[in-house]
Amino acid sequence: MSYRVQEIFATLQGEGAQSGRAAVFLRFAGCNLWNGDPATRETAVCRFCDTDFVSLSGPRAGVYPDARSLAETVKSLWNATGGEPLVVCTGGEPTLQLDSRLVEALHREGFSVALETNGTNTVLPGVDWITVSPKAGSRWIQKTGHELKVVWPQPLDLIELEALEFQHRFLQPMDDPDPAKAAANRRASVEACMARPAWRLSFQMHKALGIA
Ligand code: SF4
Repeated sequence: MSYRVQEIFATLQGEGAQSGRAAVFLRFAGCNLWNGDPATRETAVCRFCDTDFVSLSGPRAGVYPDARSLAETVKSLWNATGGEPLVVCTGGEPTLQLDSRLVEALHREGFSVALETNGTNTVLPGVDWITVSPKAGSRWIQKTGHELKVVWPQPLDLIELEALEFQHRFLQPMDDPDPAKAAANRRASVEACMARPAWRLSFQMHKALGIA
């Protein structure tokens, strides 16, 4: 199987429980909740995406013919010493492409494999860290994992979400090109975390730092 990749780059994880940790980001192209065309955003299931996952214009973007070549490219970007190498498979929606062959190839290169998914597909066994970020109005089926990261506010019931089996729960303010709306979303997230301490605030640290 070949893999359509938007970009691959080394950075620090900027969100959630692994914030601040060195990682290689492997961003797959394509999503099942929006086609990435700005003209269709308002009719998509997911309307607040802040990521280009269609242009195939990022660093090391392209169609990789097999799992080995993709895993070797990921490996070539890991220049750290000591600690456990981490690859974060994201998107777009990575479960549309991540298969057991690629998970095995990444493990063979020494990586712990993390996945950030919208939860509309079940996650393969073998993935080491599962982050689920549900989108209101979608058919959500992956309801367990290490980390539940809810972009906030959305019409989702926090009390229901607290009953699900996740080790960590985060509310992350919804970004918005309108500074006033972004500020209102931050306020809503802070207030929700203060009202329901089962949740912690996830801030997009990479944006504050000005890194990818
Ligand atoms: S599910 Fe994720 S990748 Fe897909 S459109 Fe929404 S935010 Fe973007």
